[in-house]
Amino acid sequence: MVAIKKIQDIQDEMTGWRQELHQYPQTNYEEQIASDYIKKKLTEWNIPFTDGWAGGYGIVATIEGKKNTSGKAIGLRADMDALDIDEKTGLSYCSKHEGKMHACGHDGHMAILLGATKYLNETRNFDGKVHLIFQPAEEGGRGADKMIEEGLFDKYPCESVHAVHNWPWLPLGKIGMRVGPIMAAVDTFYITVTGKEGHAAVPQGCIDPIVATSELVLALQSIVSRNVDPTESAVVSITNFNAGTGAFNIIPREAKLVGTVRTLSPTAHALIQKRFKEICDGIAQIHGVEVDLDYIVESDATVNTAEEIELAAAAAADVIGAENVDTDTTPFMTGEDFGSMLKVLKGTYVYLGQGREDDPKAHNSKPLHHAEYDFNDNALPIGASYMARIIERGLPLDE
Ligand SMILES: [Zn+2]
Ligand SMILES: [Zn+2]
Repeated sequence: MVAIKKIQDIQDEMTGWRQELHQYPQTNYEEQIASDYIKKKLTEWNIPFTDGWAGGYGIVATIEGKKNTSGKAIGLRADMDALDIDEKTGLSYCSKHEGKMHACGHDGHMAILLGATKYLNETRNFDGKVHLIFQPAEEGGRGADKMIEEGLFDKYPCESVHAVHNWPWLPLGKIGMRVGPIMAAVDTFYITVTGKEGHAAVPQGCIDPIVATSELVLALQSIVSRNVDPTESAVVSITNFNAGTGAFNIIPREAKLVGTVRTLSPTAHALIQKRFKEICDGIAQIHGVEVDLDYIVESDATVNTAEEIELAAAAAADVIGAENVDTDTTPFMTGEDFGSMLKVLKGTYVYLGQGREDDPKAHNSKPLHHAEYDFNDNALPIGASYMARIIERGLPLDE
């Protein structure tokens, strides 16, 4: 590993920030403690910033390079929020907020961006500006969209924007990326099927929503297997099926389904939405039930642009060596609101390896959103050096 020396030297300091942030996790739009912590550091380092973004706790700081003749700027982004999980790591710096936990490693992302910020502010070996974006409410809160709606990229125009996510499924010392989609678009759906209730022994006088909804479940499952192009990736998961009162002798009036759809391409995304509507209408007709479909597009796929992946791959190679950079990593069907930033700007989202193959029982080998997960602090200098190199390579001084 050849992380930037000046960043490697502050690994202990970065670890201190990360473990401090880890103890005070707050969820969607409540990230006041992290926000105050970051602002304190920025003030200490004399870096100008604006705050109050995303309804309160988002921050954007700006550093100007030794030169600003390029007139260009690049954005670096970290998310700030935690999850509603009761931490079970038993670590000395375990969450002090009951029922809340940094189980997605956003504490690590903030520490990485702070490390890059400190280094870039001291060295300024670039021509242009860097905007450091600390974004709240990634976990289902669409904080990225909120900041964009509030004029983030009007006030801070950027050539491109970049982010990392720590990745327990990739060993420490490796970085994974790819051109095109790396995370999926996320949709949710809520379906209510209404029939006619009555005695279980007199079905002819009822319209049974359970039979209709059972067929609906199977028909919706056929979209991925029978309609979506087999070379594309898509998921339809029905996660709730609720009907009945608990009684054995009553046909209920209503059945409800809740679930999620994940897609990587706009084609599959549009097709699945269309098929949902058609299938719901078809089931309504066949069974004489009423089917109410509430289909919500939650977030777009996170799609990396080719030229910026070239920049990211070169920056990563500077830090960990080209042999440790996978430029054709497998996309995941999880969602990420950074996709909204990549919809309006060019840029990259990459997986920062943090797993430890030698110690599979280590906390930092647990998956994201797990009560025993912990961010691997050895990934801090790699992440911060990688982000710093994006700026030094993307805004070169000697051009
Ligand atoms: Zn997460
Ligand atoms: Zn996350």
